[in-house]
Amino acid sequence: MIEIRDFSFRYREGREPAVRDVSLSIPDGCFVGVTGPAGSGKSTLTYAVNGIIPHCYPGDFYGAVTVDGLDTVEASLTDVSRLVGSVCQDIDSQMVNAVVEDEILYGLENFAVPRDEIPARVDEALSSMGIADLRDRTIDSLSGGQKQKVAVASVIALKPRVLVLDEPTAELDPASSVAVFELLARYAREHGTTVIVVEQKIALLSDYADLLVIVDDGAIRYAGAPDEVLAHSEELLALGVNCPRSTTLMNALARRGLYDGPAVRNVAQAAAACKEVLA
Ligand code: ADP
Ligand code: MG
Repeated sequence: MIEIRDFSFRYREGREPAVRDVSLSIPDGCFVGVTGPAGSGKSTLTYAVNGIIPHCYPGDFYGAVTVDGLDTVEASLTDVSRLVGSVCQDIDSQMVNAVVEDEILYGLENFAVPRDEIPARVDEALSSMGIADLRDRTIDSLSGGQKQKVAVASVIALKPRVLVLDEPTAELDPASSVAVFELLARYAREHGTTVIVVEQKIALLSDYADLLVIVDDGAIRYAGAPDEVLAHSEELLALGVNCPRSTTLMNALARRGLYDGPAVRNVAQAAAACKEVLA
């Protein structure tokens, strides 16, 4: 669904490329988690997929990025936006209406969705995110978690094939973070949507991602199934990516030959693995 080939990008104001020689193939329906230190190029990578680069940020673009066969450089931003829905990091700047329902209608009207389809699209988007009861609320009155769900609902109402979210849970508590991922994953599964989510919390990401990508200094350091990537917890820690302590502990036991199962990502899995080892 998404092919990134030898992609490098230097912002016009940047001295060095923000992203260098990145290649990645993302199959249709894949849930991709992207993490890495601040300033490593995660957002830049998402801009290449949703067309913000090069359509909004000028600079030196090398390589090619295609989404469902559409070259994001050659296509217009409007055409890329029909395929790729984005929830940017600063949702307050993304949301332009005062009331939840209007925010969802706004995108549908902008994309000229036929009038008779609109009510069903709004209902479906609200119920997919579990926020049917928020329809008439003002956005100002919502909690961070509720706002995040509205931002996602307004994008999925457009039925994009690909959904890109940049740090959707940065301002949320752990319970709301899980709730957002849970709704997102279920929606993606039911609709076959390809999802790319940038997220600091690697354990949370690993619970949902099919493909986990670690970006460091503008390059992809690791890309694979979460278990495979988490097996490198020591190297990740050196890059400044915090793995759960349960992961680090079990990987340390694995290095000493005391454990040979897959990488764990929470205390419950570590406890179960220890029980098995000690049995
Ligand atoms: P991340 O999302 O991982 O924090 P970014 O993709 O935002 O990283 O940034 C990667 C690099 O590109 C950083 O060095 C950052 O300073 C630089 N950068 C980001 N946006 C711009 C911009 N609009 N102009 C110039 N440099 C930028
Ligand atoms: Mg960023």
